[in-house]
Amino acid sequence: MNKRKVAVLGATGTVGQRFISLLAGHPWFDLVALTGSDRSVGKRYGESVHWLLPTDIPEGVADMKLVPTGGEIDGELCFSALPTDAAAEHEAPLAKAGHHVFTNASPHRMDADVPLLLAEVNFEHVHLLETQRKARGWSGSIVANGNCTAIHLNLALAPLHRDFGIERAIVTTMQALSGASYPGVASLDALDNVVPYIGGEEEKVVEETNKFLGGWDGRAVVPAGIPMSVHCNRVTVRDGHTETVSLSLRGSPGVDDVKASLRAFRGLPQERDLPTAPKRPIVVREERDRPQAILDRDAEKGMATTVGRVREDPILGTKFVLLGHNTIRGAAGASVLNAELLVAERCI
Ligand code: NAP
Repeated sequence: MNKRKVAVLGATGTVGQRFISLLAGHPWFDLVALTGSDRSVGKRYGESVHWLLPTDIPEGVADMKLVPTGGEIDGELCFSALPTDAAAEHEAPLAKAGHHVFTNASPHRMDADVPLLLAEVNFEHVHLLETQRKARGWSGSIVANGNCTAIHLNLALAPLHRDFGIERAIVTTMQALSGASYPGVASLDALDNVVPYIGGEEEKVVEETNKFLGGWDGRAVVPAGIPMSVHCNRVTVRDGHTETVSLSLRGSPGVDDVKASLRAFRGLPQERDLPTAPKRPIVVREERDRPQAILDRDAEKGMATTVGRVREDPILGTKFVLLGHNTIRGAAGASVLNAELLVAERCI
């Protein structure tokens, strides 16, 4: 196939850098444009970025010049790692101008006509793109990712909701510092500490979960309506969000049934063997002390959610621990997989 031209918006940031490393040598996508803020427009990428990944900047990218997000962008598909305010300003005009925007920012996530897409979980929500194009008169589109915590939570919840039905959920998160962007939480606040507050995050996890797992009635997404209690904490881990989850499941399945449901989970990305698809979207571990951030965040190249310690919960019935890489499957990797799926299914 002819490679599709793609751009990364907000290319110098934490998520932007992940996009660049995932798109280097991509078999379907050709990275042709990078955008930056006024601070970096016109500069070479290599001189503007504070590169944080352990691999070198991919060949050719360091010499690319950053362009403004508001101007004409060469790149039919735009992978957005913009901060909230810049996303609110630029993403809709780009969609109007014919670009297909895959965003990690929050402004459009809960719009009724924007699919909050998790490739293995809710492909039917892509029907919203027809509504979106008609209602807004766009030739392009916006497809949103959930936030990094909600993405990993919902990869694990999806098979359990499908196989049993989730009645109630209690979730406590221990979220990595890179989830707060760069430079993120001040070292004197973070070191030797757990910060028991991440602004807006608990509300986002609840509303995004109910959209991710919502049904499709032929016209709109019908929220799943799962009552949830969520506690979000920032911990001194560099990458990888850990979440402890207690669930009430219909029919009170046993631990082995829950593990079997998680292990068997596959979706369209695996069926279509998409380039960025993890072979196993959920990795279930049996060791009593896993998952751990430093050991499990790179499972399936950072594209899987690892679940461990599946056991009975004396109050809700089932509990486990999950962990996932926040800037790979929790952000850039999820967008690249969504784009691959939409290209494979000829939706864009
Ligand atoms: P970040 O590290 O602060 O990076 C954002 C980058 O955007 C900055 O490096 C800045 O680059 C650039 N920028 C600012 N205004 C711009 C504009 N008008 N045009 C182009 N570039 C502009 O933030 P991040 O962590 O990568 O997060 C990016 C987005 O992803 C946010 O919306 C965030 O909520 C979301 N997200 C983040 C994570 C995560 O784990 N970090 C996970 C899921 C979702 P220059 O000034 O250098 O040009």
